[in-house]
Amino acid sequence: MKAICWEAPTKVKVETVPDPTILNPRDAIVKVTSAALCGSDLHLYDGYVPTMMPGDIIGHEFMGEVVEVGREITNLKVGDKVVVPFTISCGKCYYCQTEQWSLCDNSNPHAAMMETMYGYAGAGIYGYSHLLGGYAGSQAQFTRVPFADVGPIKVPEEIPDDKLLFLSDSLCTGWHAALNCNIKPGDTVAVWGAGGIGLFCALSAYLQGAEQVIVIDRYPERLEMAAKHTNAKTLNYSEVNVTEALKELTGGRGPDACIDAVGMEAHGFGLPGVYDKVKQTLRLETDRIHAVREAIQACRKGGTVSIPGVYAGFADKFPIGALFGKGLTIKTGQTHVQRYLKPLLAMIVEGKLDPSFPITHHMKLDQAEEAYEMFKHKHDNCVRAVFNPNS
Ligand code: NAD
Ligand code: ZN
Repeated sequence: MKAICWEAPTKVKVETVPDPTILNPRDAIVKVTSAALCGSDLHLYDGYVPTMMPGDIIGHEFMGEVVEVGREITNLKVGDKVVVPFTISCGKCYYCQTEQWSLCDNSNPHAAMMETMYGYAGAGIYGYSHLLGGYAGSQAQFTRVPFADVGPIKVPEEIPDDKLLFLSDSLCTGWHAALNCNIKPGDTVAVWGAGGIGLFCALSAYLQGAEQVIVIDRYPERLEMAAKHTNAKTLNYSEVNVTEALKELTGGRGPDACIDAVGMEAHGFGLPGVYDKVKQTLRLETDRIHAVREAIQACRKGGTVSIPGVYAGFADKFPIGALFGKGLTIKTGQTHVQRYLKPLLAMIVEGKLDPSFPITHHMKLDQAEEAYEMFKHKHDNCVRAVFNPNS
C-alpha cells in the first residue's frame, strides 16, 4: 500500500510499504477513506517530537471502512463505516474504566521510555513517535486499529466523511478543551489560535453556554472563518495588544477562561519571542510557550487556563508567579475522545452541528510534500487539508 512516511525534519515522502495485518484478536484493519492533516502532525514534521524514525507512517485523525476483524471483535463487521479515535485505549485498565481514555495504561508498548521522561506513560497514539507507542499512522491506504472493540464508532453510511472525520480528534478536542473551562452563563472565553482546534474550541464554548468568545490569531482568513462559523469576536495579535484588548472586552476583569489552542510552536514576538526561538533552535528548551504565557497573564483572577495545545518537554520563563498569585486552575492533556463520540455524533446526525467547515483542501496521498508545506506555512488559506488515500 501507499503511505506518507516521516523521513527527517521537514521531509515526508510517499512510500510503498507492506499492508498492515491483524496481529492481535482485538485488532481490525481499516481502509482509510479520509485522513486529516492536523496541527499535531506539524510538530512531527518540524522535528520537535523526539523518537521519530525515518520511514515512520504518520497521521492520526481518520475514518474509513472495516476490511478485516480479529477473532474477538464482535461489535464491528467487514464493510462498516467507522471513525477511529486518535488515542488508542484498552478499555480495561483503571484509566479507561474511569473514562480517562488518553491515559490508558496498556496501549503504549514503549511505556518505559515515557515513564523516564514524565513519571508515567499516557496512551499510545497512531503515527505519533516511538515515545507514544510506535504505531503506524493513518495517512495511508490502510491502518491497523488495535482494541477495535473499544475505539472505533460506527457512523451512518449516508453522512459524508467531511462531516464525521473530525470526531476522530479535532472536534472532540475542541469540545474537551471547552468543557475543561467549566463554562457558566455570562462567561467570556478567549481562544489563542484559529486553526482547526481553536475553531472547534470556540464553537464548543458557545454551544456550552459562553456569552462571549474571542479568538486570537494573525491570519485574517482564519479569523474570518472563526467569525463566520463560530460567532466569535476576533483579535489579530499583529495589530492589537491582546491583553489590553481582552481587558477592554471584559470590563477590565479579564476572560473567565483562556484556551491555548496553539501549542509548542507558538509564534513569539518581542524579547520573549526571540528568546524562545533561540533556545528551541539550540534544543535548550523543547517548547515555545508564548501563548500559554499570554493566556495566564490575560486570565481573570480565579479563572481557568485550558491547554489543548500539545507540549512535549520543557520550557523556560513559565509564569508560575501569575498562576499562583491569581489562583488560576490549569487543565490540559490529550483528549479523551471516546467520551464525546456518541453525544457529538448525535448532534451531527440531528443536524445541530456541521463540523466540516475548516476543510479547505482535499488531497491525494501523492501530494504529501505539497500538503505539508502548504499547511505549515498556511499558504492558499489552508486550514485543514484532508487526504483521501483510496480515491
Ligand atoms: P494549526 O497549526 O492549524 O493552528 C495553530 C494556530 O495558532 C495558527 O493559526 C497560528 O497562526 C496560531 N498561533 C501561533 N502563534 C500564536 C500566538 N502567539 N497567538 C495566537 N495564535 C497563534 O494547528 P491546530 O490543528 O489548530 O492545532 C493546534 C494545537 O492543538 C497543536 O499544538 C496541536 O498539536 C494541538 N492538538 C491537541 C490535541 C489534544 O488532544 N490535546 C489534539 C489535536 C491537536
Ligand atoms: Zn490531531
